[in-house]
Amino acid sequence: MSARRLAATGLLVGLTLTAGALLAQVAPRLAPDASLRPVARGQTVKGVVLPAEVFVQRDIAMEVARQALSRSRDPGRAETLGITRRVPERSTATALSLRPKLRPATVIQQARAVEARRRQGAVCGDLSIQGVEIGRVASETAGCGIDQAVRIQSISGVTLSTHAVMDCTTAQALKSWVDRGLVPAVKGYGGGVRELRVVAHYACRPRNNRKGARISEHGKGRAIDIASIRLQDGKDLVVLEDWNDGREGKILHRAHAAACGPFGTVLGPEANALHRDHFHFDTARYRSGSYCR
Ligand SMILES: [Zn+2]
Repeated sequence: MSARRLAATGLLVGLTLTAGALLAQVAPRLAPDASLRPVARGQTVKGVVLPAEVFVQRDIAMEVARQALSRSRDPGRAETLGITRRVPERSTATALSLRPKLRPATVIQQARAVEARRRQGAVCGDLSIQGVEIGRVASETAGCGIDQAVRIQSISGVTLSTHAVMDCTTAQALKSWVDRGLVPAVKGYGGGVRELRVVAHYACRPRNNRKGARISEHGKGRAIDIASIRLQDGKDLVVLEDWNDGREGKILHRAHAAACGPFGTVLGPEANALHRDHFHFDTARYRSGSYCR
């Protein structure tokens, strides 16, 4: 490359850089003209007065107007009317509009207090599992007891009628079931789930209360028995009464089936006569996988 061409190229590069820098400076000032402009409420867009709350990008306002007009008896207006700015006669629009209100300090304080209380009551490292840590539950009977127990009051906002003692593995299984099994099974029926009626949790006893049998999972803090589900409207889905009863029976069947997975053993009315009035869930795992009936 000749020295002349080199100089010319250098000049060109220099100019380009300068132009780029200039553009970068000018561009932000040019942007507003080219960009979407917010439209304040009280305006008429294509002949349609925007509702009071509307403060949107211009293209969205246009779309709202277009849709409103296409529904109206005179769609032709959409073409013939331009965009006009209408100042409402007795409007407080400007005075009231478009400024987000500051959240009062008290609201923030209240929210923080609720959060702090939740943290305080949270166990098993999960904010939605509320209860108290009670540590080691000792037992004189061999095979009974819990190393690190918790007493659970509520799970994902669903209260337990009796604050149930268990280990965290079981509390977490219960949470999975409530969130992914029970709540979806009940959906909005009766306003949704409010409470679980717990009829057994930690108890040092042999399986099925039979003398000489192995220690039940209840004796290890790994089991919970639930007899009914209370809904927000006060109605109860009772295992004993509603298991085979229409819509409520269907909900109970679904909830029961969904426990299989989170829990290793799931028993209900179809398992045996002992379980005709409650669900038994426990986190014991068998080599063959879950046992659900
Ligand atoms: Zn049980």
